[in-house]
Amino acid sequence: MESEGNNKNEDHFNNSGPENIFKRRYESILKNAADIVITVDNKGNFTSISESVKGLTGWERDDFVGRDMNYRFVHPDHRLEASKKFHEMLETHDPSSIEFKFKCKDGDYRWFHQTHTPIVNDDDELIEVLVIARDIHERKTSKIKLEEYKKHLERLVKKRTEKLDEANKELEIFSYSLAHDLKAPLRAVQRYSEIILDGKECLDEEQREMLRRIIAATEKMDRLINDIMVYSKVGRKDVLINHIDLEDVIDRVLENLKGNIEEKDADIDVILPLGTVMANEPLLLQSLSNLISNSLKFVEGGEKPKIKIYSENDGQYTKLYISDEGIGIDKENKEKIFQLLTRLHGEETYPGTGIGLSVAKKAVELMNADIGVESERGKGSKFWIRLDKGGG
Ligand code: ADP
Repeated sequence: MESEGNNKNEDHFNNSGPENIFKRRYESILKNAADIVITVDNKGNFTSISESVKGLTGWERDDFVGRDMNYRFVHPDHRLEASKKFHEMLETHDPSSIEFKFKCKDGDYRWFHQTHTPIVNDDDELIEVLVIARDIHERKTSKIKLEEYKKHLERLVKKRTEKLDEANKELEIFSYSLAHDLKAPLRAVQRYSEIILDGKECLDEEQREMLRRIIAATEKMDRLINDIMVYSKVGRKDVLINHIDLEDVIDRVLENLKGNIEEKDADIDVILPLGTVMANEPLLLQSLSNLISNSLKFVEGGEKPKIKIYSENDGQYTKLYISDEGIGIDKENKEKIFQLLTRLHGEETYPGTGIGLSVAKKAVELMNADIGVESERGKGSKFWIRLDKGGG
């Protein structure tokens, strides 16, 4: 869009002598175009430029027409590319385009999108180049601002997440050591109660019953403390994700729960193959162990637990099911049970702390996997964990 010389647009038409209708049409474009419409001859001189140049850049048409192309108004960052594109187009006769910053008369730079269209004769000789420059300043600057803001937000979210993770870790360390420190005094209460109960002190039956209750309460508290320690420990280590063979993991969980399975005379059907997934082994072991223990526990009094373990393909995921024929879960409680300390039953019917499923959920989420349940009261439950297959 730059030149040196003095010719007017009219001269160009008079000299080149186009058909009247084309002349009028082009004159009207030069007068009314919202974009800057320019023609450049095959020697690189500006031959015409639309009136819009004044409104968009502050420069006069005479600042360009008759002058040759040079790039002193193009921002230094874009000069090389602008000149390269233009010369390539002159050589190849292929249209080209570029986005660049152009220096306006007031000294400010504005963004333009410019297309270069070669006009050739029947012998493929270049006669002229039609250049159309569109002011894209608002779009470009708001896009740049938006990108900068997006980056700023991403940095902010990252920083806040790191802080939150740190605070969470501190909280977990705190609750772990608090739970740990509660164990010693609790053991003392338990121990001395047992000594008194077993000793020769003359206690009446009511006092003995009180002591038995103290011991039962300390046992319950001990279980709670242990579970809190497990909950706070999950996620404190680095979560390394590897290819894991689900059959191996299930074998190990069933081996660990062997005593419980035999005591309940449970029926456990593992349907092979289960496949491999991307997971962290200790976290997967912990979650599956909690799910299977629950399936062993939540059965109608006296009934034998029946558990089916199988997997299904789910696109890039494998969904591993732990399905039981136990007491089932009401629709409205299906989400709630994954919350910390949520229990649907009294301690007398089904002992527990309400932490097992929270541990499973936390462990599964640390592996970027999902956990859920399909269930109806009285009709058994199907807990599932959905893990990435990791492409084989
Ligand atoms: P806990 O087993 O110690 O009670 P969990 O967090 O493991 O704690 O489970 C929370 C609650 O979810 C249980 O108290 C029980 O009401 C319900 N629940 C979990 N698993 C099952 C299951 N397989 N069948 C029926 N209810 C279940």
